[in-house]
Amino acid sequence: MKYNDRISRQRSAQLFAEAKKYFPGGVNSPVRAFKSVSGPPLFIRRGEGCYMWDEDGNQLIDFCCSWGPLILGHNHPAVRQAITEAVSTGTSFGTPTRMGNMLGKLMIEHNRYLEMVRFVSSGTEAVMSAIRLARGYTGRNKVVKFEGCYHGHVDSLLVKAGSGLVTFGTSSSAGVPQSFTRETFVLPLDDEAALDVVFDQHGSDIACVIIEPIPANNGLLLQRPEFLKYLRQKTRTHGALLIFDEVISGFRVGFEGAAAYYQIEPDLLTYGKIIGGGMPVGAYGGKAEIMRYVAPEGPVYQAGTLSANPVTMAAGYATLQQLLQTELYVQLEQRTQQLVQGIQAHADQRGYALTIPHIASIFWFNFSRKTIRRADQIDTSSVARFKHLHHELLQRSIYLGPSAYEVAFLSAAHTQDILDYTITQICTALDLIFDTTPT
Ligand SMILES: *Cc1c(COP(=O)(O)O)cnc(C)c1O
Repeated sequence: MKYNDRISRQRSAQLFAEAKKYFPGGVNSPVRAFKSVSGPPLFIRRGEGCYMWDEDGNQLIDFCCSWGPLILGHNHPAVRQAITEAVSTGTSFGTPTRMGNMLGKLMIEHNRYLEMVRFVSSGTEAVMSAIRLARGYTGRNKVVKFEGCYHGHVDSLLVKAGSGLVTFGTSSSAGVPQSFTRETFVLPLDDEAALDVVFDQHGSDIACVIIEPIPANNGLLLQRPEFLKYLRQKTRTHGALLIFDEVISGFRVGFEGAAAYYQIEPDLLTYGKIIGGGMPVGAYGGKAEIMRYVAPEGPVYQAGTLSANPVTMAAGYATLQQLLQTELYVQLEQRTQQLVQGIQAHADQRGYALTIPHIASIFWFNFSRKTIRRADQIDTSSVARFKHLHHELLQRSIYLGPSAYEVAFLSAAHTQDILDYTITQICTALDLIFDTTPT
């Protein structure tokens, strides 16, 4: 492993300057811009296994994994072969394909929470469609979401909590009409009482509650299972649907995702990321009785020119086939635990304010000793700490997603050796960080 002493980002910096002419902020998705860490974003040229190489030739151990999809690592031979074969016979037909059947069947046969699915092209689209379906099915309008959960950039979900316990949200993006946000209630996570209030006051208007059962887009806010069970009970009592947004947790914490992990059956589930094997994808599914409301079988319209395109289907199928080996999940979890424990032991010994919440192959640096379950519990000073950590780790060939609020992922390609190296480097970086910034 080549140690990136003071990595050069000259080429990336040039490309970024050029990109700023073409794309707002130089990027095609905001968090890529490195706004909350230092230096220009790295322009990646190639990935293989757990490694990426940037345009300056730096080799990096990747713990971002394309924000979650690459559970098998970069350029996995089986996935590459499936994609290559699919591409060689054409990329899109705008018709049903056998490959679509194959992936649909694989997902449904091995996931007890899915009776039917519909493929779309992104997680955002999956969530948007699932919400429309919930409204169409229940004949109700209101949606409940939680502060600290991200569900893509759907208008009605780009909403943050207003003032007061149960008020309508306010939009968290320009361009979302106030009238849209009035259809959404935003509640704190981990708070049964807030759920009671909103259902007492508006129970008969609520079409659905949507949650990331493993909230992993604003730190890793692991929930009490009792809270999730309460949510299931409450929605059922009031005839509202429960939607688990499993775009990250689906096929990540196990083939049957967070639903199986917590043994909770939602009415609808949304997926993305892993199921496309690195190609653009989304899916929503659940009970057949509800899914039959989707067009052309039912009255809820939803369509897509490139939905279930054969290349994505092939990549997803190859990926999920690998994931059917349950040992793979066991190994991923063991390795993640070892990594986390190695770092945590060092932090504990030195008395650093750091805990590393983790589940399956997801982990997050929480610069605090407290257990955090809600977005508002995250100390904003951890942003500066993370920025420093991110920088120090880049110098040591370790790549994390460029934000304090983003989780990290292990892939099946992160070997024991790599993780041993990573533990050592992270411990060294922590010593520097906690030495130079006040605790
Ligand atoms: C990534 C993500 C989305 C959005 O998916 P895109 O493919 O980026 O549109 C939605 N929900 C969750 C939980 C996600 O992590």
